[in-house]
Amino acid sequence: MTLHKGAPAADRKHIRHPVNPFYGEADPVSGMETSPPRHTLPESPLAPHAAYQFVHDELMLDGNARLNLATFVTTWMEPQAGVLMAECRDKNMIDKDEYPRTAELERRCVAMLADLWHAPDAVGCSTTGSSEACMLAGMALKRRWMHRNADRYPASARPNLVMGANVQVCWEKFCNFWEVEARQVPMQGDRFHLDADSATALCDENTIGVVAILGSTFDGSYEPVADICAALDDLHEKKGWDIPVHVDGASGAMIAPFLDPELKWDFRLPRVASINTSGHKYGLVYPGVGWALWRDEEALPEELVFRVNYLGGDMPTFALNFSRPGAQVAAQYYTFLRLGRAGFRAVQQATRDVARSMAERIGSLGDFELLTRGDELPVFAFTTAAHVTAYDVFDVSRRLKERGWLIPAYTFPPDREDLSVLRVVCRNGFSQDLADLFLADLEQLLQELREQRGPLGRPENEATAFHH
Ligand SMILES: *Cc1c(COP(=O)(O)O)cnc(C)c1O
Repeated sequence: MTLHKGAPAADRKHIRHPVNPFYGEADPVSGMETSPPRHTLPESPLAPHAAYQFVHDELMLDGNARLNLATFVTTWMEPQAGVLMAECRDKNMIDKDEYPRTAELERRCVAMLADLWHAPDAVGCSTTGSSEACMLAGMALKRRWMHRNADRYPASARPNLVMGANVQVCWEKFCNFWEVEARQVPMQGDRFHLDADSATALCDENTIGVVAILGSTFDGSYEPVADICAALDDLHEKKGWDIPVHVDGASGAMIAPFLDPELKWDFRLPRVASINTSGHKYGLVYPGVGWALWRDEEALPEELVFRVNYLGGDMPTFALNFSRPGAQVAAQYYTFLRLGRAGFRAVQQATRDVARSMAERIGSLGDFELLTRGDELPVFAFTTAAHVTAYDVFDVSRRLKERGWLIPAYTFPPDREDLSVLRVVCRNGFSQDLADLFLADLEQLLQELREQRGPLGRPENEATAFHH
């Protein structure tokens, strides 16, 4: 999370919440606070309704989640899911022995994903999100590489992981935290993600794995997982390096099985060792739940799995956290049960239809050039056309915010830092109606932007920044 500093000394004592007398019981006898400090722990309690009102009022200034086209994360669930989550808010996921039914729902979710991704014998677990799932998958790759090479290489050999420069930041974190060299393939021309040739070119005997993304955070495109696997099969034959693939399916692993069933990207490819997804993205659950699955027990070294007996029982776990809320797992099971395959297909298709038609309409405005069309992930990126000199993508993002629309503008990674784009992430709950309203607002503000003398400059530290 954001690294925060304490409050400046001058603010600590003096900055206080002014209480509307209407909220509180300003009763000196009760000893209740009437004007609590903002940066230090208040000396005495506050009435619950006054405390509630404070926090509630402050949060009103957050953006409207439904108009947030920056995030991939679920912003709408049906009321029944909310009720279920509220019922489970006191359950700790780690207490498998105390909450055996929650543990059982987690197991069923893993079994359903294993079936969906074509590896009925897969082993897996829930996580707080894809980031944790990727850490776990990366650790398994690193440990397997160590086992493979225990007696072949000196201890000083440095493991590396091959990926595109378009990876989500969690892979850079993994490499930094676990001391693995991140070998990133830069973007080149119109190639905005990893492909087979560029991936294999960076592999060597110390490559612990290749990460293929379904689909790219930057533009929603699918990386060619099957081609990458085939090229690695060749490499295995020629050089003897048997390099596994991890598929980062944070978004796409819950899109492709329903909308692109013919596309082979999952455990149908023997080289795919593990897959992660974010239950809280197109798994359609409120944040934070993710999933990590390994093809079979061989793909997940035994010594990484922990068994603790001090909560009773000794269920094996693989996780970075210990305690974690159980509500999201119950909500994931609810969503699976509620929608089934046909329901997921319908929901994801509707979302992709909105993305495609929106991309097409934005493309036909004449001001923009589409990088992607919303036909893989329901996500598309676009930039200003070459002839547009009056304004840039940062201006568009800033002006849309005046209308409440959050759409990020950001620059691409190496070697296409010259390219700045806008990205729209369509999600369940972003309806065709809302898309129409968005288009109407965009068309209206373009009339003004076209009159500008030139781009107003990229806002520093502005909240238009890239959201993963
Ligand atoms: C969102 C995302 C992640 C990180 O997932 P969280 O669930 O937010 O931790 C990792 N990889 C890709 C491709 C993503 O889109």
